[in-house]
Amino acid sequence: MRRLTIINFLIVLGCALAVGLSWQINHEAIEAVALKLFRAEGRSAFTLIQTARHWNAIQGKVYVPVSADTPPNPYLRTPDRDITDNLGRRLTQVNPAYMTRQISELLQDSDVQMRITSLDPINPLNRPDGWEAASLRQFEISGELERVERVQDRYRYISGLIVQRECMQCHEDQGYRVGDLRGGISFSVPAEQVDLLVSEMQQGSSRVHALVLMLLSLIGVSLFSLFYLVRGRLQASVMAQAELQQLVERDELTGVLSRRALMERLFTEMKRRSRYGQPLSLLMLDLDHFKRVNDRYGHQAGDLVLKELAQMLEQHLREVDIIGRYGGEEFTVLLPNTARLQAERLAQRLCQAAAEYRIRLHGGDLVQVTLSIGLASCDTDLLSAETLLARADEALYVAKQRGRNRVSVYGQD
Ligand code: GH3
Ligand code: MG
Ligand code: MG
Repeated sequence: MRRLTIINFLIVLGCALAVGLSWQINHEAIEAVALKLFRAEGRSAFTLIQTARHWNAIQGKVYVPVSADTPPNPYLRTPDRDITDNLGRRLTQVNPAYMTRQISELLQDSDVQMRITSLDPINPLNRPDGWEAASLRQFEISGELERVERVQDRYRYISGLIVQRECMQCHEDQGYRVGDLRGGISFSVPAEQVDLLVSEMQQGSSRVHALVLMLLSLIGVSLFSLFYLVRGRLQASVMAQAELQQLVERDELTGVLSRRALMERLFTEMKRRSRYGQPLSLLMLDLDHFKRVNDRYGHQAGDLVLKELAQMLEQHLREVDIIGRYGGEEFTVLLPNTARLQAERLAQRLCQAAAEYRIRLHGGDLVQVTLSIGLASCDTDLLSAETLLARADEALYVAKQRGRNRVSVYGQD
């Protein structure tokens, strides 16, 4: 349960990290979109003002009445800058640069600010501020003609001004050349409105991300818990099946193979033998005078002796050998890939080991039991399992007849 809690916590943490990363990327993207939007706005404003300037330039000369707000432009040195119309009114020429400056002055009290500027201004009022100067220098180096940036509480846009042919009518004697970067027009608006929009979009994004996080965590935790539950059930059922198998296959008292499992293994080994032609030997073991043990120490003590002895015998066998309880106090040992001579030696060792073994009963008494062993092999003959068993049984009988605590080999004794 603790493991499940930790993993569920990790799932939620993983979801939070993924959603957090997406939230961060989304927030930055929204800010980038705000800048892109302002760039488009700046471009439109620049196009409008450029169109007005172009209109002014292509007229040849544009004159307006002289007033306090529009005095003659002291930086314009054309011979016909100031004229008088046929009604006697004083008119002065307004070239594109003067017109731009006039418009920018009209905008002074509004949110939108516009400036015409140059690194080398004819009118000192058009001197660039720090950001404009840096942008114009960057344009000179990089060849780019546009820059957008949020500077403190304003969004700023600047675009470079290239000298056109029509500019030359006023500026030729000032050293202008067509195609030169002469300066720029910059716009700025307060960031407040855009910030409001950005924050609204970001709040929306935060809400969506929080919802996604909740859903993802819920789905992740539910799916994993379900998987955990199903896996637990499956494991329990596999274990139950294994236990059942153990119950069927193993003898309850001694823990060695049951008679039924032993017979199955005997048939399998017989098949393997006939296919690969390897020898197979079978030992039939019977405890000598076991009835006396029961009679003397009781049935429970007899059980303990059977159990201890079976386990001791198992330890004396190789991993490939198979021991099972044939019935009562009789055991069978299958020796795959083992010829008669080798099997006889092993049987002698088992016989000796049993005779030397002492079993301590719960009361403290030490019990010693001996074994009689009948051995049958199929080295060359093709026998049936039943015949092999019968031969081993016959040999066991002979071992008993000859005085017990010994090995008898079928066909030899
Ligand atoms: P022999 O040397 O001729 O084999 O003598 P024996 O006394 O071993 O043979 P017998 O067949 O007369 O008796 C076998 C005894 O084994 C009788 C029975 O009570 C005992 N026995 C069989 N199964 C168990 C068992 O599971 N537990 C106990 N305690 N005794 C068992
Ligand atoms: Mg017996
Ligand atoms: Mg016996």
